[in-house]
Amino acid sequence: MEQKEEQSNASERSETRSQVAGLSVKKSEGFNEWYNQIVLKADMIDYSSVSGCIIFKPNSYSIWEKIQKIFDDKIKRSGHKNCYFPMFIPESLLKKEAEHVKGFNPEVAWVTKAGDTELNEKLAIRPTSETIMYESYAKWIRSWRDLPLLLNQWNSVVRWEFKHAKPFLRTREFLWQEGHTAHATREDAEREVMQQLFEYVDLIENFMAIPVIAGKKTDKEKFAGADYTTTVEAFMPDGKALQMGTSHLLGQNFAKVFDIKFLDKDEKEKYVWQTSWGLSTRTIGAIVMAHGDDKGLVLPPKIAPVHIVIVPIVFKENKENIIAKAKEIVKKLKAKNYSVELDDRDGYTPGWKFNEWELKGVPLRIEIGPKDVEAEQLVLARRDNNEKTTIKTKDLEKKVEQTLNEIQDNLFKKAKEYLTKSTVEVHNFNDFVNVIKSKKMAKALFCGHDECESSIKNKTEGATCRCIPFEQKAAKGNCVQCGKEAKFWAVFGKGY
Ligand SMILES: [Zn+2]
Repeated sequence: MEQKEEQSNASERSETRSQVAGLSVKKSEGFNEWYNQIVLKADMIDYSSVSGCIIFKPNSYSIWEKIQKIFDDKIKRSGHKNCYFPMFIPESLLKKEAEHVKGFNPEVAWVTKAGDTELNEKLAIRPTSETIMYESYAKWIRSWRDLPLLLNQWNSVVRWEFKHAKPFLRTREFLWQEGHTAHATREDAEREVMQQLFEYVDLIENFMAIPVIAGKKTDKEKFAGADYTTTVEAFMPDGKALQMGTSHLLGQNFAKVFDIKFLDKDEKEKYVWQTSWGLSTRTIGAIVMAHGDDKGLVLPPKIAPVHIVIVPIVFKENKENIIAKAKEIVKKLKAKNYSVELDDRDGYTPGWKFNEWELKGVPLRIEIGPKDVEAEQLVLARRDNNEKTTIKTKDLEKKVEQTLNEIQDNLFKKAKEYLTKSTVEVHNFNDFVNVIKSKKMAKALFCGHDECESSIKNKTEGATCRCIPFEQKAAKGNCVQCGKEAKFWAVFGKGY
């Protein structure tokens, strides 16, 4: 009887095995389905009964924690502090800045009732915190000594999307950080805008291994209520651009509306200059899309919650010995601050374990079997290119460090090649349209006018100006679409 039960358990497990053990769609053949499978099968998210929202399971939340840690250290080094403001914003407050409310109004979720009682004033669930924060900034800022005020919040915001939800990229609630600073001069505020944008560039390129184009948004695409918006844009393997982070010069627009003034050193009362900047959990979606493959997630070592998994290859007679060796390796690697998992679960074959950890994107696997123990060696298996190398156990720390660096560099290099290949310089509108059609981005001379940008969008079924890159060469010539004098080179593409 007991035996029978065991057998049926085993067969159940093998059923689960075929369900969890891989993606049934190739990245190159059905990108959307591939993405939807990977986020579920790598156990990153789940859906709940709240439509348009996702649950961040430990496998994705731990990536967010890594991102938080890296970025939080960065902003604190430059004098920023974290705080927390209420998630409810009174309607009158949200509506104070006309452009701002116009930009967010269709997506705002409102609290209108408490129990059965209608509220006197309905409360917005924050779509972003400018208004609620700046009401307080007006009270807190009195003199030049109070400046700069450098605050950041880690929170979630709600934007009630009606389009189909896509995990990490388009959900009604998402997690982010929002920085909000106030300065005495425009120059100081502009410096802050750029400093934070380049912190994003560093975070995204050097940790997430995703190359970006940094630049300015056109007036049409800028943040509602800003003087201008700067952005870092990545390009995803399905041919769509993804805005990874933005940093805005708010100028004195909000200061004038919220009456945020300070007494300057010259005894004159002045309005402050403000910035805001944000980066969200959509970057996790970008990591999945940029690096993932047909086996599952591929995480860059610097952002991976688990760096290394050790899979002992055991047989009954040598089990103890091999597990003991594996534990020694874990200890050595932990001493070097690596996050290591030892997969010594019974009842799963090594091959099954390989598949599972590959699906979850762990950058490096160490295999150790009886022959390896005898020869004092180990096998390193790279997640990014499937390469296996046998190393001497005494070289463990050195080889692991070297290999993880190589993985990090290789992922960036591959993504960079793709970005370069996908950004095509064009000189006439016919080529422009063809480049967009072929799921690439077109870099072209552009006049910068709103109407021209709208025409481009109409004629290309949705391509928008992703940014005006900071890296510019002389813009001599005519706009690619309207033929008027060009102001700059701009990058266009379809976006998320
Ligand atoms: Zn034009």
